[in-house]
Amino acid sequence: MCRHLAYLGPSRTVSEVLTGGTHSVFRQSWAPRDMRGGGTINADGFGVAWWPGEGDGADAVGYHDERPIWSDPAVTGVLTQVRSTAVVAAVRSATEGMPLGRDACAPFVDGRWAFSHNGRIDGWPDSVAGLAEWLPAVELLRMPALTDSALLWTLVRRRLGASTPGEALRAVVGEAIAAAPRSRLNLLLGDGTGVWATAVDHSLAVRVDDVSALVASEPVDDRDGWLAVPDGHAVEAWPGHLEITELPVSYGEES
Ligand code: GLN
Repeated sequence: MCRHLAYLGPSRTVSEVLTGGTHSVFRQSWAPRDMRGGGTINADGFGVAWWPGEGDGADAVGYHDERPIWSDPAVTGVLTQVRSTAVVAAVRSATEGMPLGRDACAPFVDGRWAFSHNGRIDGWPDSVAGLAEWLPAVELLRMPALTDSALLWTLVRRRLGASTPGEALRAVVGEAIAAAPRSRLNLLLGDGTGVWATAVDHSLAVRVDDVSALVASEPVDDRDGWLAVPDGHAVEAWPGHLEITELPVSYGEES
């Protein structure tokens, strides 16, 4: 299952956020420690989003490649020249049956939002046909790829604006679990100032202090302060703020 990461804090280069730490997301692409539900490496592309302008409400900018992260020279090249106070990144291990390609690589970016998903919708696509059925055709046409993650992103994006980011994730996890109870739904959403995430049948860790916040599938280093997010919980984080709340879902209990 893919690995993802969100960073908020002092300005760093995008390259540093991807490769920094003894267990960076770069390293997790070929040596993840806690893959669940199949997959051994994350070699089906990667993506990264950042926010230019030091937290002044700028839109996110994305860079994606369908090749493994270790084979893209931008990571140790041009991305060493890009600095940001906020980064969201993902390395992909495509779920069986999902299309490959750059467009299927998270994070999906729209306006100030960047979204990633670790996991899979069980029984895709039939199990969630009911959720897609009510989406306006234009939303389906705007899906970045025909993947479970892109559908989840489409459902989340529709709610943003009317709901807080945390409420949007909570609602979509609730809907998806009701339709496909054995799904793995680690969602991650950033807007350059905050990070919202869920842990549903997959690993998630957080480390927050007064100046920075990291939310990641696996801790990116061996420093103190990492907390494992318990299954069935949601996270809201930014520097100096961490809230972990239970999700109103019971999952994984169906046969
Ligand atoms: N199901 C998603 C995809 O295929 C996410 C994959 C994963 O977490 N391994 O892109």
